[in-house]
Amino acid sequence: MFAGIELIAVVKANAYGAGAPAFARELDGGGADRFAVVWVAEGTALRAAGVTRPILVLGHSFPEDAPEAVRAGLTLTCHSLELGEALSREAVAQDRPVAVHVKVDTGLHRFGLPIDAAVELATALRSLPGIEVEGLTTHMANADEEDDSFAETQHALFAEAVARLPWIPYRHTANSATALRREPLRYDAVRVGLALHGVLPPNTPGPELRPVLALRARLGRVADVAPGEGVSYGLTWRAAQPSRVGLVPVGYADGWRRNLGNTGSVLLNGHRCPMVGRVCMDQFLVDVTGVAGAAEGSLVTLLGRDGADRITADDVASQAGTISWDILSSLQARLPRLYARGGLVESIA
Ligand SMILES: *Cc1c(COP(=O)(O)O)cnc(C)c1O
Repeated sequence: MFAGIELIAVVKANAYGAGAPAFARELDGGGADRFAVVWVAEGTALRAAGVTRPILVLGHSFPEDAPEAVRAGLTLTCHSLELGEALSREAVAQDRPVAVHVKVDTGLHRFGLPIDAAVELATALRSLPGIEVEGLTTHMANADEEDDSFAETQHALFAEAVARLPWIPYRHTANSATALRREPLRYDAVRVGLALHGVLPPNTPGPELRPVLALRARLGRVADVAPGEGVSYGLTWRAAQPSRVGLVPVGYADGWRRNLGNTGSVLLNGHRCPMVGRVCMDQFLVDVTGVAGAAEGSLVTLLGRDGADRITADDVASQAGTISWDILSSLQARLPRLYARGGLVESIA
């Protein structure tokens, strides 16, 4: 799809809930050219997991991070001369050159330097021993909005930075939405996170993607509730008729949002079963009244496909009042992760 352009696989936040070690190892074997995370600690964890390709740290690093970053062979986004000097000292001491990228703040005003300061820093970093100024980058403010005219403003500023720093070889600006929607912003590499999981950002046309992640659980207790009786904390849902409720052992501590209570649903044996009552820390209830075969041990789908029906991260995000990135990256480490290829589970983490 992006011939001649590198793919930087963004695997921050435990690879958006998919489990960074396994997800990155898979792409390290082929598919990704590089990886990106946000913290130095995320990068060193990837190295410990055996990832060998370059790892770019996108976020704000501190001078104290330099020894660890150089030892792990990480590439840092460098925002200050102080950080650059700390990296240079470590690179010399460890006899291991370190690559840095300079980020231009073209309007998001989150991280990076205004263009003049970015040019000045890049020029100063260039003369430090052990430092290679490899990359020039920026980040888009409204890549997936219907009206993204601001992207033109940002692109013009970035193009100016590129023209003033022609000796920096590796330029990148594009997240999933920008990569798919704005070809001129692809430059030398695209930083793709969400789309790697088979989920497209809003307002983003793309190829038909299949979500790589499903969330399933087994029903615990299945019990009758008489008309008028309530379920879960606060008894916010009461049975209007003789009902059966099933216990799903996933809660907000697993990342299943509390505000999905009385709003979301799960799939069970081809039925859509409403979530009833409040979501607890470790469990919630679903109304399985009339669902044939609903019993302890039945498989319920919170995210993913069940027969002809499916629940997507976007569905859950709109019910929870958030975005698909948030739903996926909220899935906590406590949830066991089963990695399958061709329908067969190969490993569990
Ligand atoms: C998270 C992130 C990305 C990836 O964004 P997606 O929309 O998930 O593709 C790219 N660049 C930066 C700087 C990020 O923080």
